[in-house]
Amino acid sequence: MPGFSAPEIEGKLSLRASRTSELVLDKVNVPDSNRLPEAKGLSGPLSCLNQARFGIAWGTLGLATDCYAEALKYSQERVQFDKPIAQFQLTQKKLVELHTDISLGQIMMLQFGRMKESGNLRHQHVSMAKMFCCELGLRAARVARSILGGSGILADFHCMRHSQNMESVFTYEGTHEVHELILGREITGLDGFS
Ligand SMILES: Cc1cc2nc3c(=O)[nH]c(=O)nc-3n(C[C@H](O)[C@H](O)[C@H](O)COP(=O)(O)OP(=O)(O)OC[C@H]3O[C@@H](n4cnc5c(N)ncnc54)[C@H](O)[C@@H]3O)c2cc1C
Repeated sequence: MPGFSAPEIEGKLSLRASRTSELVLDKVNVPDSNRLPEAKGLSGPLSCLNQARFGIAWGTLGLATDCYAEALKYSQERVQFDKPIAQFQLTQKKLVELHTDISLGQIMMLQFGRMKESGNLRHQHVSMAKMFCCELGLRAARVARSILGGSGILADFHCMRHSQNMESVFTYEGTHEVHELILGREITGLDGFS
């Protein structure tokens, strides 16, 4: 429609394979016939975001699992001081903590999926899922990269790419902080947004 443009955002260092555009609406007139049927205010579009966030939480769990699996394999094959680095206690601590947190995330998402099927999933649950799984994905990518040492920055492996992409996922679909505020309000009954 006249007044709408979508100039591409240049210079992204995250999610580089996809194009991202700024959406500009300059005196755009939208006819009433284009209204979403039965949607009132922003609740219509926002309810779509809730579905997207639920999917994002699962996706970031998959990313965390990929990072963990890559780091485990690498640590079993890479030998330093005559031992695979997987034999060092500090490496094992990193792997054990990731494995445990990924399991926690999977159990949470399985339960939330069941609640979604039965119609009992609230948007606050989705905030918790998006917040927890994104933080885990980011941490998993960074920890995996550290286990891979210098190899971790190479495109031959996935953890660095995942780490860069997670920086976007941490921010979009509700920033990490905003989901914390949603949960903070739910728990305390006090609005910390402003
Ligand atoms: C790759 C990519 C794709 C995107 N795709 C879309 C899309 O398809 N559709 C769309 O609508 N948007 C999209 N976004 C935009 C994204 O939703 C916003 O970047 C995000 O909501 C943060 O807004 P902002 O960048 O203006 O940061 P700001 O609002 O300026 O926030 C900056 C920092 O301040 C914090 N902050 C802000 N307000 C508060 C507060 N009240 N209390 C505490 N902390 C606060 C934020 O959490 C953040 O850490 C995309 C972003 C990226 C990076």
